[in-house]
Amino acid sequence: MTATVSGGVEGLRARMSGPVFSPGDADYDSARSVWNGEIDRRPAIIARCLSPGDVGAAITFGREKGLEISVRGGGHNFGGAAVGADGLMIDLSAMNQVVVEPETRRARCGGGATLADLDAATQEHGLAVTGGTISNTGVGGLTLGGGFGWLTSRHGLSCDNLASADVVTADGRCVRASDIENADLFWALRGGGGNFGVVTTFEFRLHPVGPEVHLGFFFWPLASARDALRAVRGAVEALPRGVGSLVGA
Ligand SMILES: Cc1cc2nc3c(=O)[nH]c(=O)nc-3n(C[C@H](O)[C@H](O)[C@H](O)COP(=O)(O)OP(=O)(O)OC[C@H]3O[C@@H](n4cnc5c(N)ncnc54)[C@H](O)[C@@H]3O)c2cc1C
Repeated sequence: MTATVSGGVEGLRARMSGPVFSPGDADYDSARSVWNGEIDRRPAIIARCLSPGDVGAAITFGREKGLEISVRGGGHNFGGAAVGADGLMIDLSAMNQVVVEPETRRARCGGGATLADLDAATQEHGLAVTGGTISNTGVGGLTLGGGFGWLTSRHGLSCDNLASADVVTADGRCVRASDIENADLFWALRGGGGNFGVVTTFEFRLHPVGPEVHLGFFFWPLASARDALRAVRGAVEALPRGVGSLVGA
C-alpha cells in the first residue's frame, strides 16, 4: 500500500517547473527505481527537480505536509537510501549538467550527475577529478560520503577536491558553502553523507589526467586470498606515489 497526500500532488505541481509523480502515474514506477533492483519502496510523491528553486519548493512542501524526505542523486546506494516509503522523494536525476572551465581547471556539476557525466565532460579537456570505480555511481552520494576511486592515491578523495557546493537547506534557502562561505556547512558536506541539505551543484578542482591511462587486473583463487593479500601489501608499499591500487573479492 502507498500513502497519498491530501491535496498534495497538484499543490506541489503548481510550485515546480519539473514533473511530479504519484502512484498511478505512467512514469511513477520508473522514477522510483534505483540501481539495486531489490529496492521496491513506494514514495507518496516524487518531485523531479530541474532547478534549485524546485528543490526549495519540494523541501518546503515536504515540511508543510510532514513527509519524510529522501534525496536521489545517482540512485546507486546499495541500501536504496534515495527512496523512502510513503514519503517525498526529491529526484535530482535531471540536474546532471556538467560545465567545465579548462582555464581555471574547475567543473561545476549538477547534484544528480553520475560519474559518467562528469568524466565525459572533463576528459574532453584532458582533465579529471577523483571519482569512484564504476561510471553509474552518482557524484552526489559518492562525494558527500568522501569518495575514493582510481585517482585517490594521486589526488585524494573526491571530497578533498570539492571547491564549493550550492546547497538548499532544510528551510528551503539556497546557500553556497566553501572555505570562505558557510564554512561549517562545507566541512560537514565533505564526508558527512548527505544529511546537511540538498546539493544542487558541486564545484570541483580538476587535474590533468589521460587521455591514456594504464590499468592492470590480477586474479587469484579465493583459497589463496591470504597469500595474495600479503603479496599485494608488499607490492603496494613499493608503488610510486600516484599509482593506485584496489583489492576486491
Ligand atoms: C557497485 C557499487 C560500486 C561502488 N563503488 C564505489 C567507489 O568506487 N568509490 C566510492 O567512494 N563509493 C563507491 N560506492 C558507494 C557509493 O559511492 C555510494 O553508494 C553513494 O551513496 C552513491 O551515490 P548516489 O548519488 O549514486 O546514491 P543515491 O542512492 O542517489 O544517494 C545516496 C545518499 O546520498 C544522498 N545524496 C545523493 N546525492 C545528493 C545530493 N546531491 N545532495 C544531498 N544528498 C545527496 C542521498 O540522499 C542518499 O542518502 C559504490 C556502490 C556500489 C553499489
